[in-house]
Amino acid sequence: MSYAYDDSNIFARILRGEIPNKTLLETPHTLAFHDIRPQAPVHVLVIPKGKYVNFDHFAADASDEEIADFTRTAAEVCRMTGVKPGQGGQGYRTIANAGEHGVQEVPHYHLHILGGRVLGPMLKRAE
Ligand code: 5GP
Repeated sequence: MSYAYDDSNIFARILRGEIPNKTLLETPHTLAFHDIRPQAPVHVLVIPKGKYVNFDHFAADASDEEIADFTRTAAEVCRMTGVKPGQGGQGYRTIANAGEHGVQEVPHYHLHILGGRVLGPMLKRAE
């Protein structure tokens, strides 16, 4: 399956340096920065630098090196922000929205890392 990537999306613009961001961590393949509308005391977005639309696109087409770098960067964000359980932190949630039903706003793959408070149930039941 081929995925159409829209180069004008906001995270592509952040990666090109056209829009500022509050960077927490940058590696050769990955960027982690604070969400502009945080929904918890810790709300960081982790994105690959490559042009991937969502999680399944990333899993299908990214190299093992990109996937390892992304995964380890996300774990390092958990450590840096102090949410890592068992090491002083009290836990976190990772979320990757995809497509229409996933209510994905920005069509560049990103992992939300949320923490710093009790986050409540995973989903509200739809009416
Ligand atoms: P999605 O709904 O696609 O999973 O999440 C997109 C996230 O990107 C939202 O939490 C939103 O607040 C965040 N966001 C949108 N535009 C910007 C921006 O220009 N800068 C940053 N740092 N975050 C953004």
